[in-house]
Amino acid sequence: MTDTEKQKVKSWRMVFIGRPGSGKGTQVERIQKEFGSVLIPSPGNVYRDPAFRETPWGKIVGPMIDRGEFAPNEITNQVMKEKISELTREQIGFVSEGYPRTLGQAEFADQEIGIDWLINLNVPEDKIFERLSGRLVCPQCSSSYHLTLKPSKQNGICDICAIRLVQREDDKPEAVKNRLRVYYETAEPTIDYYRQKGKLIDIDGDQSIDYVYKEIIDKLLEKVK
Ligand SMILES: [Zn+2]
Repeated sequence: MTDTEKQKVKSWRMVFIGRPGSGKGTQVERIQKEFGSVLIPSPGNVYRDPAFRETPWGKIVGPMIDRGEFAPNEITNQVMKEKISELTREQIGFVSEGYPRTLGQAEFADQEIGIDWLINLNVPEDKIFERLSGRLVCPQCSSSYHLTLKPSKQNGICDICAIRLVQREDDKPEAVKNRLRVYYETAEPTIDYYRQKGKLIDIDGDQSIDYVYKEIIDKLLEKVK
């Protein structure tokens, strides 16, 4: 990869989308490190930030989030527009996941913020269940394991703390079904919107982390040319 190619990719505004458990977070982190892009936090992370809770928007949204409701698109759009302009003052490009994720956000982000690419990590639904239902976390140090993909040394016990691992509430089968249902309702119209705009990059997410990353890089470099 030449410096010119690298600079070009760094100048892009790239958003990752994919089913829960598709590995978006991991890839976003690698792209950010490789290209030095600005990392935009997801609305969920913004809304949980204590400093944000003190702002006028935070005082409206905070209680809604605590009640388990979704913030209205209009508010999320304004909050994210402000966040992005604050974080990208020094450079224009960024990487993000989690925004935009509904059609109302997709249209706004495309017109008011400017998105170059929506990168869609495709992982089949049965693989999502396998990935999420086998995930175990340590309640003490938050280390993450997987029954088959990343087992702990001693079955069900944290390597670091030697205490029993647990399954997160939202990784239980009913919760996974619910997360997928919400995902289909919101993400599919978003994906279609960017596809029609010629801004969709489809990636086969059902490969090792390194291969997924390589496919992303290859496809981005194709777009530079
Ligand atoms: Zn632990």
